[in-house]
Amino acid sequence: MKIAVLKEAAAGERRVSATPETVKKFVGLGAEVSVEAGAGADASIADQAYADAGATVGARTATLKDADIVLGVQGPDPANLAGAKPGAWIVAGLNPFGERARVDAYASAGFEALAMEFMPRITRAQSMDILSSQSNLSGYKAVLDAAAEYGRAFPMMMTAAGTVSAAKVFVMGVGVAGLQAIATARRLGAQVSATDVRAATKEQILSLGAKPIFVEAMKGIEGEGTGGYATEMSDEYKAAQAELVSSHIAKQDIVITTALIPGRPAPRLISDAQIATMKPGSVIVDLAVEAGGNVEGAVAGEIVTIHGVKIVGHRNVPSRLAADSSALFARNLFNFLSAFWDKEQGKPVLDEEIGNAIRLTQGGKVVNERLLG
Ligand code: NAD
Repeated sequence: MKIAVLKEAAAGERRVSATPETVKKFVGLGAEVSVEAGAGADASIADQAYADAGATVGARTATLKDADIVLGVQGPDPANLAGAKPGAWIVAGLNPFGERARVDAYASAGFEALAMEFMPRITRAQSMDILSSQSNLSGYKAVLDAAAEYGRAFPMMMTAAGTVSAAKVFVMGVGVAGLQAIATARRLGAQVSATDVRAATKEQILSLGAKPIFVEAMKGIEGEGTGGYATEMSDEYKAAQAELVSSHIAKQDIVITTALIPGRPAPRLISDAQIATMKPGSVIVDLAVEAGGNVEGAVAGEIVTIHGVKIVGHRNVPSRLAADSSALFARNLFNFLSAFWDKEQGKPVLDEEIGNAIRLTQGGKVVNERLLG
């Protein structure tokens, strides 16, 4: 059983899908691990550290030769996988909706593509969930990025020269990233408020010492669909939410938006007119910018200024903390493969629940119902 760890090819991707820690654990399971030279460089992991953990380190062709499992952070280019065994597993964040052509190409090449972001949200799969591990770090980094762009301090400071008032931070979307953003902004001393469409988040916001800002309950609206994800809201709800946000947002210094709906464009939460009501020098960080953006005018990969407000739209925020995000991503992959490791066969064998959820391609075809649907 040979596991190949590739150097990420996507522009701006600094993460790596295995660390010396996980290499050592895979070797402990009896696997042979081969790492492409330089794979960990951007995450501050030297080739020698992989070698010391028991991997062979070499060129891409040697790494891929006869590989049974290819690990990646993002999906590798299907044209660049020559040498891997027929039927080899490609295990990565495959962005199945955004990279559909690539999924088709994995199928035609005979690979079994396993999309880690389709991991079901069930208790036993929590330690395998790349969305959670990466979103958590994104929420943290979003607040630091906001602080770096903000020309004022976060905490209240009483000095001999007078008082600096605390920054007001508003977090929109209280999933994994939003919760970490609230906690981080609180640690920095900001006055924090937050909102979500899922009523269950109210308690979580309060427990972090922040103020919930919620549209009053509307009949029939729970906001929560399958797997704890948000559902698309009615027009009536959206109008009430926009009104509430308008009056609140004008008083905020920092807004962090994190709202996502799986398989659909991100909901628009802040309009140009609402930005115009904010104070000059305020900062908005749009963590959903790559999914279409929560904020009107946000540009992926750029910091733009609109009505004197800075709108931060960094791409691939987890990659901006590459050492930690790689460590957690690599553990997610190890936790997944080791949980299914069949000692007699010396390889992982998936069960139906998780296998059917994450398997995109098999036997030359696309087989995942979310893609066929
Ligand atoms: P997400 O990244 O899909 O979305 C971020 C947040 O945006 C969510 O809280 C969502 O409700 C919110 N949102 C969507 N539309 C909105 C709108 N119009 N206005 C305001 N907010 C909006 O969410 P996530 O971080 O993946 O977490 C969703 C839930 O799933 C959380 O409760 C989380 O704890 C849970 N979860 C469970 C598991 C597990 O059991 N294995 C793993 C991860 C997350």
